[in-house]
Amino acid sequence: MFDRFGRDTDDPDVGDFTAARERMVQTVSHRVDDERVLDALESVPRHEFVPADRRGNAYADRPLPIGDGQTISAPHMVAIMADRLALEPGDEVLEIGTGCGYHAAVTAEIVGPEHVYTVEYSADLAELARETLAALGYGEVSVRTGDGRDGWAEHAPYDAAYFTCATPSIPDPVREQLRPGGTVLAPVGTSHQTLVEATKRDEGSLDRSEHGAVRFVQLRG
Ligand code: SAH
Repeated sequence: MFDRFGRDTDDPDVGDFTAARERMVQTVSHRVDDERVLDALESVPRHEFVPADRRGNAYADRPLPIGDGQTISAPHMVAIMADRLALEPGDEVLEIGTGCGYHAAVTAEIVGPEHVYTVEYSADLAELARETLAALGYGEVSVRTGDGRDGWAEHAPYDAAYFTCATPSIPDPVREQLRPGGTVLAPVGTSHQTLVEATKRDEGSLDRSEHGAVRFVQLRG
């Protein structure tokens, strides 16, 4: 039988997914300091977020297509980003680029789903992500369809924000919606991108540091 996401609910391989997920966590563990990040990766069923025909590769450490020309980031990239943000339970977090909702679920494992606010440009992806998140117990994650460049003012200020698509620069609204001392993490650039971490100073400007070359889909709109 297939559910409305086209997933085979009688799949006998669900136990195999658990073993594959453990191997994936093992593979990325040397890149991560925070044990909570590894626990989060261990908890979130990545195979439930990817299209049915990609489930067999759900625990390979690489990006996968999720439809609409978009991709889910490789697990090590999700891990590196979560680790770098040093998220604490209860932190209020803004995500730009919900995609299939996987990264939001990993964040939700650390901070609590009611503290995650995510913005997705594609209404179709947002709706599917909302359904998947709800079906897997992350229904309190808030998903908004819209342009992430505007952030999500209603729930500001945020302790942390991150982009899962590359942006030419950190948009002002996102900077403004961070609390002083809060951190934004984003792939910045177009064809060449750098992972930029920026912490908001008390007077409002950003203190930036760069963390290597990365490759993400471009911000749309
Ligand atoms: N974190 C996602 C990865 C998504 S890929 C996951 O775990 O699946 C990047 C996503 O950013 C895509 O879904 C894309 O539609 C979205 N995106 C692109 N431009 C955007 C914009 N201006 N505002 C919000 N989302 C955007």
